[in-house]
Amino acid sequence: MENISSKIAKNNSKAEAPITANKNENPYEIVKELIKESVEALRLSQGVYSILEKPARVMEVSIPVKMDDGQIRNFTGYRSQHIDILGPTKGGIRFHPKVDLDEVKALSIWMSLKSAILGLPFGGGKGGVIVDPTQLSECELENLSRSYIRALIPIIGPEKDIPAPDVNTNPQVMGWMLDEFDRLRGYNVPGFITGKPIIIGGSQGRIEATGRGVVITIVQAAKRLNIDLKNAKAAIQGFGNVGSMTAKFLHELGVKIIGISDASGGIYSQNGIDVPELIKYVNNTKAVMNFPGTTRIDNDELFSLPVDILVPAALENQITERTAPMIQAKIVAEAANGPTTPAGDQILDEKGVFIIPDILCNSGGVTVSYFEWVQNTMGFYWKEKDVNEKLEEKMIYAFDDVFRMTVEKDIDMRKASYMVGVGRIAEALKARGWVK
Ligand code: GLU
Repeated sequence: MENISSKIAKNNSKAEAPITANKNENPYEIVKELIKESVEALRLSQGVYSILEKPARVMEVSIPVKMDDGQIRNFTGYRSQHIDILGPTKGGIRFHPKVDLDEVKALSIWMSLKSAILGLPFGGGKGGVIVDPTQLSECELENLSRSYIRALIPIIGPEKDIPAPDVNTNPQVMGWMLDEFDRLRGYNVPGFITGKPIIIGGSQGRIEATGRGVVITIVQAAKRLNIDLKNAKAAIQGFGNVGSMTAKFLHELGVKIIGISDASGGIYSQNGIDVPELIKYVNNTKAVMNFPGTTRIDNDELFSLPVDILVPAALENQITERTAPMIQAKIVAEAANGPTTPAGDQILDEKGVFIIPDILCNSGGVTVSYFEWVQNTMGFYWKEKDVNEKLEEKMIYAFDDVFRMTVEKDIDMRKASYMVGVGRIAEALKARGWVK
């Protein structure tokens, strides 16, 4: 039998039906194209594509906020609910100045695919507010969070659409949002939102879940590629919740992290960065820059580092036609959503890089969010050990499902993950009588 690693290398080096020469960087166009390809590869009816290409419901809201100086500022926000045939829609809320409607739509479709790949009873949802949260006081941020929930009230709830944290939102923001929802409803509804503080119904292990899941998938990939993680090096772009937790767990496995960046810039240490110390440092300084024992690098230098594993854990469209040629890593673990453009993807593919696609790689977050929602529904709370074990079991199953598709169909991991996700949603459409 053919050796698995040579088969992977062959799959990855082969330039198959190009994901395209498409230079498009609009995430909504990118995700539609990938869904279309999977529908064709799975020989599903065109009806599946026409249902999946558009979110079922998209809401644009105005979010008036009373600022500290007494003035009103009216922010714009969105919520996209992609499809609810497997369960209520579910997904995070991001606060970022570059949020736009197409991005939010794409992010909601990715959430549907993640839940389908992981076998969770959810469809995809996503919300975003156009705001730079660093420019707001804590009180203004709280007012914004509450006002956004008031605006969305007709379409959210534990059986309709369940929000969670995403870029620049955290347990505290979830706590404010839960409180606003409960006030409007008039009673306590902990299952309305996940990623909230443990004291008000959050799950053990949720803070770490996305990073833990990323590392579970890296361990699985390394096994298949015969990479010994104890002698491996990694670089991580992004040091928010996901980047920092991924760094922590990789470090615990003995991986030497030689480069890390965040919005302030990048740091490098040939001998490996002391991640636990860096986490403490960033808690105080809010940025990785000038961490003792490191030198400064920029984003291009970070991508060019001679590492085994590169983890983009920031925003979309980071690995592009321009940056992909710099990458030396054997594994790219997409902790962020949509970090690789189709052109970047094609270059990595031609170089034989093993990509763990976002909709598999970062799905540990929504998986533990699902556990949180289940615990809220049962009113019975689990130990952290139980959460982590269940997370690992689900992530390994999902990785195996996608990897099996890669080997069976002789395709790369991204196409395989779309085929697993789209295939499951199509099965549900069939069961409901929408398609044959
Ligand atoms: N925002 C995270 C994601 O993109 C988590 C979503 C959730 O927990 O519902 O997967």
